[in-house]
Amino acid sequence: MPKRAASSPKHAEPFVKLSTRGATRLQARHPWVYRSDIVESNDPPPGSVVRVLDSRGKFLGTALYSSSSQIAIRMISHGSVPDLPALIAERIRGAIAYRKENDLVSNTDAYRVVFSEADFLPGLIVDRYHDVLSLQILTQAMDAAPVRAAIVQTLREELRPAGIVERVEARVRELEQLPALDSGLRWGEKSATEVSMNGIRFHYEALEGQKTGAYLDQRENYAAAARYAHGEALDAFCYQGGFALHLALGSGGKCSSVTGVDSSRPALEMAEKNAALNGRELEWIEANAFDLLREYAAADRRYDTIVLDPPAFAKSKRDLEKALGGYKELNLRAMKMLRPGGILVTCSCSFHVSAADFLGVVAAAARDAHKDLRVAESRGAARDHPILVNVPETSYLQCLIVCVSD
Ligand code: SAH
Repeated sequence: MPKRAASSPKHAEPFVKLSTRGATRLQARHPWVYRSDIVESNDPPPGSVVRVLDSRGKFLGTALYSSSSQIAIRMISHGSVPDLPALIAERIRGAIAYRKENDLVSNTDAYRVVFSEADFLPGLIVDRYHDVLSLQILTQAMDAAPVRAAIVQTLREELRPAGIVERVEARVRELEQLPALDSGLRWGEKSATEVSMNGIRFHYEALEGQKTGAYLDQRENYAAAARYAHGEALDAFCYQGGFALHLALGSGGKCSSVTGVDSSRPALEMAEKNAALNGRELEWIEANAFDLLREYAAADRRYDTIVLDPPAFAKSKRDLEKALGGYKELNLRAMKMLRPGGILVTCSCSFHVSAADFLGVVAAAARDAHKDLRVAESRGAARDHPILVNVPETSYLQCLIVCVSD
């Protein structure tokens, strides 16, 4: 029965048909559709390129399919995609050009080159650390061998690195039902290097550390914080010293002392090495910042500048109330410890905490601390982490710089 074979699902192009709700989501320019909004499909293979149709069969565009994620499809184009590796190469070149043409990364050789959906490359993150590139592959489609080859080839051609490292999160691969894989070099020889951000130097070891090794999204906030910082300064969740070093070296001598606190010893060891790389010695304390702030407050310790950049308190929407309570408590403690005219640099990297939520929490803490606060700057992630206006998930970092009066 040749007719039937020709139209059998095995030979047909993979497609998914969406519910009205799913189609509406795409029309609102959000690239994700959940599995529950797929009403029909021909069982697309994991990671395949699928034609996306509305419930009446009208073509809406092309997406990358995941057979396991709740996010079943991520749109890659509103047209058709004959050659995915070629499109990905073009998008990578576009992401590089966007940063260059808009002068987003002139004061640094460490920055995000590709930020997943925000650069129209769902499931791919690439960070540049001088001559080392660090990539993360988060979906079945980006993991396909021809796609991987196109990514590495394009990055080599465009950025001429000495090494390309892939950082693997085992959990992400498990969720995507991809075979286990170790982090490691994918091209070249080099996985450790030195970078310079805002004129300050940092070590980078691609195969150590959290995230892709550094919190590049804070790069412009480091420089902003340094403009306001003065007197005795405390960086309460300092990791490898990003804020602390900027306060010490970038404030034009306005900070008389800088102390960094973190609960991670390896992070502090790297912070100390980073300080030495810049010819400085700072005080680093290994402690639980919550306990330390409580102790210092009880002992009447005062500071002129405090930076709070804790880990995300709200990992899911369910945690929101508790997270807001945590942020309030932390900010309240810091405000009480600041001298009049003090500067508080306070951050949240919880996507579920909106800018309005965060400002509300800081305002509530100010009421309890009996202080007046002026917002000097309300900031987000550095501009190499673009925000897509219809994709709230791309806007996750809040950074307020406030002046605290009595
Ligand atoms: N400001 C840093 C990033 C901070 S990330 C930068 O720009 O590089 C959050 C940091 O908080 C991590 O380094 C983590 O080790 C640390 N941390 C988590 N819980 C902590 C706690 N209870 N006390 C102190 N540090 C903590």
